[in-house]
This record gives sequence, C-alpha cells and structure tokens, in this order.
Amino acid sequence: MQYKKFFALTAIVMIVLNGCSSQKTENLSEISFDGLDSIEREEINYMLPTRFASDGKDIFFIDSPTGMVYRFDLSTKEATINCNNPVCSHDSDSCTAYAERDISGIRRENDEVYLLGNQIYKISRNQKEEIGKGHYGTSNSKIMFGGYIAYPEEESIIVENIESGNIVQRFEDVVPYTQGNFYYKGALWYITEDLELVRLDIKAGEKRVVEEIGVTRASVYEDFIYYIQVDQQTGDNQLIRYSEGEDSKTVVEDNVFYYNIKGDTLYYTTWPDRDFYYRPLYESSGENEAVQLFKGLDLLIWSFPEYDDLLVNLSEDYYTYYILDTETNTIDYDHPLKVEQELTQ
Ligand SMILES: [Zn+2]
Repeated sequence: MQYKKFFALTAIVMIVLNGCSSQKTENLSEISFDGLDSIEREEINYMLPTRFASDGKDIFFIDSPTGMVYRFDLSTKEATINCNNPVCSHDSDSCTAYAERDISGIRRENDEVYLLGNQIYKISRNQKEEIGKGHYGTSNSKIMFGGYIAYPEEESIIVENIESGNIVQRFEDVVPYTQGNFYYKGALWYITEDLELVRLDIKAGEKRVVEEIGVTRASVYEDFIYYIQVDQQTGDNQLIRYSEGEDSKTVVEDNVFYYNIKGDTLYYTTWPDRDFYYRPLYESSGENEAVQLFKGLDLLIWSFPEYDDLLVNLSEDYYTYYILDTETNTIDYDHPLKVEQELTQ
C-alpha cells in the first residue's frame, strides 16, 4: 500500500517534470551564452536600485523616486534631463525622460542602456523605446542578459525571452534580497532573503548554494565573484573573492562596508568608521598599506568602463552625486550632478 502510493506519486511527479522540461529544452536551445560570456566585466555596480548605467557616451541615471531619466555627458561633464523638447513638461509617456515611477533598475547590455521596471525601456540620448511584454513586476532584483530577462514572481525566479514572451526557465523557492544579482557564465547569481549566495544554472535549471550565510553586495569583476560576508562570530564584514573554477574563497579585506573596483583598484569604506580607502585589488590584505582618502564619509561608489573617475554620493545627501577625480583623489563638491528637483511633483 505504502509502496503503491509512493510509485503513484513518483509517476505524477515525473509526468509534470517531463512536461516542463520538454518545453524548456526547446526554448533554451535558442540561448547562446558564447557572446555573453566573453563580455569584459570592468565595472562592479552592485548597488540596487542600480541607479546608473553608461553606454559609453553618457551615464544615464534615474532621479528616484520620481523616475525621471537624466544623463551625464562624458565629454562635457554636464548633467541634463534626457529630453530635448523645449516645450515638453516632462510629465507624460511621450517624454523621453519620463518613465514609470517604479523603475527598479538601469542596466547596460551590449552597449545599450535599459530601464527595468514592470516594462523595459531602451534609452539613449533624448530617445526612449518601449520593448518587452510589460509584466515584470516592481522588484528591483531583475537581471537582463542577451535578450532574456529574469524576474521574481511569488517565490520563484522566471526567465523569459523578452521578444517572444516565452518562459524558458523557472526556479522555485528563490526569494531574492537586494544588492547583488547578476548574470555570469550561463547562470544567474542571487542573494536570497536568507542571505545565501545562490547560483542558478539556466540551461540545467539547477540551484546551487555557493555561500550559506550572511552574504550581501555580490558582484562580478573579471573572473571573480565578490561579496561581503558578515562573520557570525565577530560581526566583521569581510570582502570575499570567490573563484568559481577553483571553488576557492579568499578574504580580500576586513571590515568593508561599501566597495567598488575600477582599473584593478579596490575602493571601499570601512565598517563601522565609514572611512574611505583604496588599494591594489590583487594584493593580499596588509601586504601594502591601503591609502585613506577620507575620514568618516559614508560614500556610495559607482564606476564605469569608459570613464576614469568615480561617481559618489554621501548617505546624508542621497540624491546628489559628485565626481571623485581618481587622479587628484578629490571630490568636486562645487559641481554636483544636479537633479532638478523643481521638475518633480
Ligand atoms: Zn520631456
């Protein structure tokens, strides 16, 4: 009796699984990871909502919470609203700077910039184009890669072909947390609500827990995954470098609060003092003294491949951004990337 029940259940489960997998296999064969996996990863902007993305000519950014799109011209170093219509009131969907109020991320993909909200918009200088099917929800944990989008729905992650709207994969029991999700080598990497780091193999549909506890702020730079892990004994925030090929972990630096990487230089703020340092990325901790640039400045840090300087903001002035000149190591407080608050309603 027990055995019969077991076999009956197993048969049902197998039918369901087979039904899913045959549909998935057909669609998944369209995904080529070759081009995606050769992308050089020179920026490490794990912050969510991901408020900046550059297409090489401009850095686009969102004036959260209004959702207006601004751009910072890399040649003139001027920030303007991304609309050049002199009579536009920037308050309707026809405006190229106007997007959904709940835009949850801005991403670079194949040298184009996309706004990820419930809908996807491709944006460029004074241009905006709506693409996709528009049902991706308001979570800020979406990942876009090679014509596909991954988005959370209920307690799962759905991978969908943007153009066709076909669901090609679904990962059950994955609830993402913020600050750290990305595509890397055929897989989606997420921090879950339990602060695990998980790898979701897109073609195999398999979930692997890479790190079980206390992970925040994950990203990828060149061939390594980086994340902060809170030591459960001491409470220290360690910056970890993870090699997927060797399945090995190295502590890069102790007591890191925020970090970013630019040109093989690690920039970071300390915990709990919020001092700002930089040092060569690949040296061991303590091998060469890190240089302290600022004391007690709680800085968020963004970097871009075509732009030598960094963008920073101060936590007490959340929506004003400044340039950190990486040659002089100074912050230009006199010329903030100004967000024109008078436009917001
Ligand atoms: Zn406008």
